[in-house]
Amino acid sequence: MDFKYRHILQNETQLGPYPLEKLRRVDTPTTEYVGEIKRRSQSESGMAKAMASEAGKRMLARGVMFFNRDPLCSALSSFQSYIAKFCLPEIAETKAPLPDDPRILTRHIKSLGYFLGADMIGICALPKSAVFAEETDCDYKYAVVLLNAKKAHITRQSYGREWIDDPCSFQSYQRCACQAQVMTAYLRQLGWRADSSIVDKYPTLMPQLVIEAGLGEESRIGIALNPFVGASFKVSAVLTDLPLECDKPIDFGLQEYCSNCKICAEQCPTQAISYVEKVEYNGYMRWKHDGVRCATGVITNTVGNICQRCTKICPWNRRDSGPEIFKGWDGNIQTLHDDVNRQAALRRKNGFVEPEEHLEKWWFPLMRDGGAIVEAPEFDYELHYRRERSRKARKEAST
Ligand code: SF4
Ligand code: SF4
Repeated sequence: MDFKYRHILQNETQLGPYPLEKLRRVDTPTTEYVGEIKRRSQSESGMAKAMASEAGKRMLARGVMFFNRDPLCSALSSFQSYIAKFCLPEIAETKAPLPDDPRILTRHIKSLGYFLGADMIGICALPKSAVFAEETDCDYKYAVVLLNAKKAHITRQSYGREWIDDPCSFQSYQRCACQAQVMTAYLRQLGWRADSSIVDKYPTLMPQLVIEAGLGEESRIGIALNPFVGASFKVSAVLTDLPLECDKPIDFGLQEYCSNCKICAEQCPTQAISYVEKVEYNGYMRWKHDGVRCATGVITNTVGNICQRCTKICPWNRRDSGPEIFKGWDGNIQTLHDDVNRQAALRRKNGFVEPEEHLEKWWFPLMRDGGAIVEAPEFDYELHYRRERSRKARKEAST
């Protein structure tokens, strides 16, 4: 293969839109491991348990899954299922004549992911503990993690518990899934084992892959946070044996930041997020997150499909998080923290409501009721302000 015109595959040029190359890299994730991490079963998730609860059974009896309650999300999620059922090609019997340098292959695969539209890409060795216990033959060597930011200008217009929040997630899931399916199909045609991990067919837990692949750190919310887009993103992964170079995990000071900031815990409507120190969970230390409480709050929400209040209100979820914002960033973590602190102060000052929220809601509040689509209840801002005022008063009285 002639590399005369393929310098990009050999040099250090930043490949994607975000300056991942400038982040501080560490040998092991900032999550503190204290024992063996056991493989989890899909039935252990907070959502699976909540769906088996009385509230979940009532919802299933009505025949409408929570994410299908409104017609926009229903349209998006049914198309997501269609993408997940895409028939991947057989793995070619003969391997294509690729270069054997893993660095060149890595830059090629990352460039392909960015060409397909991913916002950030990281690669890690596939940890066995990230593979669901039900998966018996998922023994790939690597995971290529494709991160797609959610549309910041849309999430800015929502309280985080409205009818638009799940469509916003599915819009991102779809991009993740399309990229992963195309990349997987490509690798299989080249003669390499590959499979995708996407919504509706996840063989793996995703937060661990995000952390191992250097795209985030574990947060108080219990999910991985990214230094540029906070928790406002979705990911998919391509699992493969193609020899690749792994990225190291990152450290942007989130463990200390989350220790001091408790905005998500204050704002969670179900009190599912911990205010206190980390505890041991399945072999590692984390802020305890009550997944069942969260999922029950999600499925019983009457003014929206789900709840994403914590990810919406976290100050790492900036008002603007497009790549142009970080173009001149020199890699100084303090600059990021200063920016996030400003964001947190502004949110507190505004009573945790974005100024645009009242003005730019373009979606209709619609929901399914039996066979018909009817007007749905909406989030009550007056009630929110009343609660904020009494919370503030209680806080002041206790200090
Ligand atoms: S999604 Fe909502 S209920 Fe769940 S932890 Fe976040 S804020 Fe709380
Ligand atoms: S709101 Fe604060 S404590 Fe919660 S995840 Fe974000 S930075 Fe961490």
